[in-house]
Amino acid sequence: MALIVQKFGGTSVGSTDKIKAVARRVIKNHQQGNQMVVVLSAMSGDTDRLVGMAHDIQTIPDLREMDMLLATGEQVTISLFAMALKEAGYDAVSLLGDQVRIETTEMHTKARIKSIDTTLIRKHLDEGKIVTIAGFQGVTEEGDITTLGRGGSDTTAVALAAALKANACEIFTDVEGVYTTDPNICSAARKINRISYDEMLELASLGAKILDIRSVGLAKRYNVPLHVRSTFSENEGTWVVEEDKIMESMLVSGVTYNKNEARITITKVPDQPGVAAKIFLPISDAGIVVDMIIQNTRAGDLTDMTFTVIRSDYDRAMSLLKDISKDINAESVSGAQDIAKLSIVGVGMRNHSGIASTMFHILAKEGINIMMISTSEIKVSCIIEEKYTELAVRALHDAFALDKDTIPVSEETL
Ligand code: ASP
Ligand code: MG
Repeated sequence: MALIVQKFGGTSVGSTDKIKAVARRVIKNHQQGNQMVVVLSAMSGDTDRLVGMAHDIQTIPDLREMDMLLATGEQVTISLFAMALKEAGYDAVSLLGDQVRIETTEMHTKARIKSIDTTLIRKHLDEGKIVTIAGFQGVTEEGDITTLGRGGSDTTAVALAAALKANACEIFTDVEGVYTTDPNICSAARKINRISYDEMLELASLGAKILDIRSVGLAKRYNVPLHVRSTFSENEGTWVVEEDKIMESMLVSGVTYNKNEARITITKVPDQPGVAAKIFLPISDAGIVVDMIIQNTRAGDLTDMTFTVIRSDYDRAMSLLKDISKDINAESVSGAQDIAKLSIVGVGMRNHSGIASTMFHILAKEGINIMMISTSEIKVSCIIEEKYTELAVRALHDAFALDKDTIPVSEETL
């Protein structure tokens, strides 16, 4: 008998009819002899509505009370879902985070799970019940209700799967799975059947629309096989699992882009010990996250520094840097917001050379200028002008033949 944790997002449980449909689907899995634990989100739009009401009343809502409020969204869906199961003649029980005892840190609205007591869940499962658990919530040691941050139900599901040593954790959503790139800009995008945890983490900007990326780190740590699939079809989705030989034989698994960054350059920075710290400490103190950093060498004792920040932090970063550059006697600060980060991802890069240069060659052929480059073991990212994003994505998708299913690379093709 397998134990399966399934999680359904807000759009999957957005009405009582949809809740009944989810119940029918879960019952089918239960009838096949599986023990079922079902994690639900609040109905789509409900959590936003609750946040809105809190702001109607308190300018800066009290975080403890915010969690009390937000946790109600999931109570609605799990109780209705348990009723749907009972109405269909199946035994079921709904449980809140504090009833299970999903213990978290005290950081209200962004708590982290510390431990999960599986005793009660096991007892109900052993009695043949379908167990449904509220996503996104937990309880502190003192008994205060907490939530895990927006989109946190995926994390609840993976954490439960880890604690219960489930055979799989299935995340049901409104798309068919993870694609080789954004299907909205590249019609040749193809659903990926299997992908490694590390690739999924690197493809965050593709995956984040589908599943909460924090849950992937957790799945990796506890080796929980994750299956991202559609509520509205029977098709298999994307399995996110440990790396295997087939994945290693692929050159590239996906092309992703991020239009959410901005570039900042400081020129003629005196090249002395401590300047990087003088630039980046105040920035991190202001809570601004820096992504790529490049330091060039110039003739003389001067250097240029270019880096990227999240676009919404751009103005704040620029005004801080104007002061900093005066302090350190740099010549000027300039920047641009109309950039995009384009990345190719694949564990195959560990074993195959020439992938980065192929990427540069493809961009050159399209006449696209590369402003910055950064690489990791399984990723190459380039900063380009934003207006070329779609063109670049399509060209790379085509060049690496991502529209074709699994083309293992032979030595001759390299
Ligand atoms: N209901 C919560 C939210 O909207 C948690 C979730 O859906 O995962 O963020
Ligand atoms: Mg969600």
